[in-house]
Amino acid sequence: MSLEPAISVTPSEIDKVNLLGLSASSLGDLFEQMGEKRFRGTQILKWIHQMGVCDLDQMTNISKPLRARLAELGEVRIPEVVSCQDSVDGTRKWLIRVDGGSCIEMVYIPERERGTLCVSSQIGCALDCAFCATGKQGFNRDLTAAEIIGQVWIAADSFNQFDVAAPRRVTNVVMMGMGEPLMNFDNVVDAMNLMLDDNAYGLSKRRVTLSTAGVVPALEKLGDVSDVSLAISLHAPTDELRNQLVPINRKYSLDEFVASARRYLEKMPDKRRKITVEYTLMDQVNDRSIHAKQLAELLRDLPCKINLIPFNPFPGTDFKRVTNTALNRFRDILHRDGYTVTVRTTRGDDIAAACGQLAGQVNDKTRRQARYKKRLEEREGEHSQALDRESRPIKVIG
Ligand code: SAH
Repeated sequence: MSLEPAISVTPSEIDKVNLLGLSASSLGDLFEQMGEKRFRGTQILKWIHQMGVCDLDQMTNISKPLRARLAELGEVRIPEVVSCQDSVDGTRKWLIRVDGGSCIEMVYIPERERGTLCVSSQIGCALDCAFCATGKQGFNRDLTAAEIIGQVWIAADSFNQFDVAAPRRVTNVVMMGMGEPLMNFDNVVDAMNLMLDDNAYGLSKRRVTLSTAGVVPALEKLGDVSDVSLAISLHAPTDELRNQLVPINRKYSLDEFVASARRYLEKMPDKRRKITVEYTLMDQVNDRSIHAKQLAELLRDLPCKINLIPFNPFPGTDFKRVTNTALNRFRDILHRDGYTVTVRTTRGDDIAAACGQLAGQVNDKTRRQARYKKRLEEREGEHSQALDRESRPIKVIG
């Protein structure tokens, strides 16, 4: 007896190629396979990413019969925006649902002369850095190229940027949202290429930044296929300390990571380019004078600028934000040693959009989220017991 369900399965929309994530060249391939001219690919690219048009029927420079044939193979699917919140300081945060039901977060940070979009590359993150909220959510899967570039599309749409007369609000993109971009190499590279493509978003390579915690073999490969700006998340000047904060350091040491970043720069024809070094400062953990001096020594041969990030707390963390005294001392030591140092100001604090606070709603495939939640509950228990002791001396029973 057959246990097959008695329903006929027709190709669902999900089986169609999502044209959103395809490059001009892949779109060209698609048309070529249909026996058409490759340049049609660029036409579609412009409709989607320059004009914000997703309905194939509105792509009027393609003939009706050809549009119908294309619609059999592909469609443009934009990830669903679940919510969009604005902070008092102008920062905007989106919660975006992707296939499979999980949600990722994306943040836009306006500044005087630029607007930076902080884009996610994975649902959750497998690296589990000790001080990062995303890591506590566990890991679900890589985002597709369509889901990554889809975030840029959503922001552009949200700011009315597809109207040529409207000002360009998204001037910079940083791959600093949820996930480790180099663990999702191909999709991230494809999406970044769309950010750079003049027929799509046309951003300059200096304004698209990939940030990594140090997946060294992938970084070696990156320099062969891309020339975007690179940020490296160091957070500690010695392997001993970094092993505790950034577990992937146990696999690829600090020296290997810094050397690989230097090789990345050496592959760039423009010799003035610099690496951004990110260093999240936590009270009493990595904020001492000795750490600043060791960092200065470590970076001696790397053309770089250093971005100090005061730690942003999230529920359940033991780490504390660096004090202003320690922050200034750290900055001054590096300054005196000749480094360009900037301090990242905390933005979007009121909507939990600050750096490292992006949590999304990850359908965790590891057990990490459950462990984290249990810990949080235990702490809440301890906390309310403490409150009981302090503020309710008379215990009401029953
Ligand atoms: N996985 C990538 C990109 C995502 S994190 C990376 O590690 O670079 C982007 C930056 O935010 C990293 O430098 C990260 O270390 C930092 N960060 C993470 N959690 C933070 C927190 N709670 N407070 C401040 N910065 C944090």
